[in-house]
Amino acid sequence: AYVIAEPCVGTKDTACVDACPVDCIHPKKDEPAFETSELLYIDPVECIDCGACVPVCPVSAIFALDDLPEKWAEYTAKNAAYYGQ
Ligand code: SF4
Repeated sequence: AYVIAEPCVGTKDTACVDACPVDCIHPKKDEPAFETSELLYIDPVECIDCGACVPVCPVSAIFALDDLPEKWAEYTAKNAAYYGQ
């Protein structure tokens, strides 16, 4: 799966939401949680590892698990936790 990390905090650009072919990045702008959410999250079960979200992120916040910087390792669990996983 892919993971959204710290650069998204306070950014929440949502270009990734529009790019994702399986709609597994939330919250979306029209969801109530969007206003209060710290960042956006990728559902690790639904993600098909296509990589389409990575180049469209203006702050380079999205990483394949193997490329996730160690300092942001906690974001793997944060993304999964948003989906109750
Ligand atoms: Fe969606 Fe593909 Fe990014 Fe996974 S890698 S979150 S499927 S755009």
